[in-house]
Amino acid sequence: MEKEIILLKLGEIALKGLNRRAFEDVLIQNVRRRLREAGAFSVHARQSTVYIEPQDGDADMDLAEERCGKVFGVVAYTRAGEAEKELGKICEKAASYLREDLEDARTFKVECKRSDKKFPFTSPEIAVEVGGYLLGQYPHLRVNVHEPDLTVWVEVRETGAYVHGSARPGAGGIPVGTGGKGLVLISGGLDSPVAAWMMAKRGVELTAVHFASPPYTSELAHDKVVRLLRKVSEYAGRIKMVTVNLTRLQEEIRDKCPEELHTVILRRFMLRAAQEVARQEGCGALITGESLGQVASQTMQAIACTDAVAEMPVFRPLIGSDKSEIVKIASRIGTYDISIEPYEDCCTIFTPKHPRTKPILHFVEDGEKAVDGPALLEEALGQAEARHILPGEQS
Ligand code: ATP
Ligand code: MG
Repeated sequence: MEKEIILLKLGEIALKGLNRRAFEDVLIQNVRRRLREAGAFSVHARQSTVYIEPQDGDADMDLAEERCGKVFGVVAYTRAGEAEKELGKICEKAASYLREDLEDARTFKVECKRSDKKFPFTSPEIAVEVGGYLLGQYPHLRVNVHEPDLTVWVEVRETGAYVHGSARPGAGGIPVGTGGKGLVLISGGLDSPVAAWMMAKRGVELTAVHFASPPYTSELAHDKVVRLLRKVSEYAGRIKMVTVNLTRLQEEIRDKCPEELHTVILRRFMLRAAQEVARQEGCGALITGESLGQVASQTMQAIACTDAVAEMPVFRPLIGSDKSEIVKIASRIGTYDISIEPYEDCCTIFTPKHPRTKPILHFVEDGEKAVDGPALLEEALGQAEARHILPGEQS
């Protein structure tokens, strides 16, 4: 049987000294979970590489490979053909496994890594032998060690010998679950899903809170957020989503607070509500999609007024990003097409005609006293609803 495996090259994880084992263990757990739908695989780490071996012929290698491309902590990944650890067999495997690539290339070179020091040939010897064999099998090929069309990799390890072409770039970052738990404030917009993805990339396990204001915001708007989180979960793994209804609070603010301060007051209440959810869910930080100067509520002064109620770190990974940079990531991770669907967000209803772009804290604090904040928050949080979001259609 033609045996094929997937190799994951680990990145920064390798630099973590004593924590390295713990990081690897989390990564392996994450990979196992993500491959469940693709069939039975054995997953284990050795020498900064994770080996993924299908356990039977039913394993879906294409799906497994796709999933591996979305696991944080992986810098590069590739499928590889496995050969018996015998020079002749390795040559034959390289010629057959990489046939299409070898036919398409005009120039090539062979790179060898031998971590099994008991194997009776050195890396240069193996490379010369495999290179010579491939030249015999594919007479159109020329060797070019500086800029080859194709690099044939041969890795001789304890477990076997593997041949592969160039590896694909992985998702980077560090494994989700090694960076604590964070609560992302998720809207249906472009920014917050990207912010969530960026923090997951830094190892943060995500919980999400979404504020809805029915009937001003629709069921479709809510469903849009679910679909956005599902996309993010392809990278971040399972995400618990808490939905909090802010209708009453927003109506009260609209009716009782100074109009030009509505937005900043609402945002302060959102932060307070989020903080309460974060405490209940064991999250150590909040995450938002704010970007400096993008809208009236995202000026330095407005952010200062919002942050004045913060009692935990608020991560804003997009604070220095341009819209075009955010769009680029959104397109890459598949959230863009969903984000641009036109549904109302609770932040865009009842918006004042002239919001204060430089609100002053004591006016904001005075202005919001007109509503009974604690009671309204308690009511909203008491009716919060939770669900779990998983990749694919399973949630
Ligand atoms: P986004 O693209 O994420 O919607 P935005 O540029 O539209 O951001 P705002 O609407 O001012 O900016 O929202 C700023 C941040 O506040 C969002 O990135 C998000 O983190 C949070 N936020 C906004 N609306 C909601 C909501 N309905 N539920 C939860 N969080 C929200
Ligand atoms: Mg928005």
